[in-house]
Amino acid sequence: MASRRRSKVRTTFDMASILWNSAVQERATELHGDSWDVVFDDSITQHNTAPGWYHYISGSFAGFTCSLCRRSWASKRVQVIFHFYLNSASNQGTIKVRRFKQKCKRCTGARMEDPNFSVENIDVLVERLVTKIRVRCYEEYLGESNRPSRFSGRMNGPHETLHCEACQNGVCSQAT
Ligand SMILES: [Zn+2]
Ligand SMILES: [Zn+2]
Repeated sequence: MASRRRSKVRTTFDMASILWNSAVQERATELHGDSWDVVFDDSITQHNTAPGWYHYISGSFAGFTCSLCRRSWASKRVQVIFHFYLNSASNQGTIKVRRFKQKCKRCTGARMEDPNFSVENIDVLVERLVTKIRVRCYEEYLGESNRPSRFSGRMNGPHETLHCEACQNGVCSQAT
């Protein structure tokens, strides 16, 4: 029972990693054929970009599930911070991704849960990010044309600042 639960968590994590990586691989041509890897990193902020790296904050619709009561909710404003860097000598790029968590408002002692983005909204975010990478790392001149996120389901009430990790980090108001 315990081992089954553990492997389920690992599968979920791997699945998100696979989805984000494949969304980036699909845009390899736009990234000049260079190899770009996506890694999740919950330690990055809008202030701690390493030398030579760039950052970008965006957000999209995502769902959450409370691991205590199994309740699900949706949020149309789930922020994501990206740090990205191109090693032009080896044609190897790295993208660090931090997906801001939210916690259940019904459970006492609720834990911060990772958001679940749909494949379509991952692609929306990756499309915006790749535009930034092309401008910053490949010095292309591109216009701004953000494709909007796709919403599904019903929003329940206003954005819950107290239960949103991004709000607590001052990130929610900064996304573009
Ligand atoms: Zn709960
Ligand atoms: Zn927020």
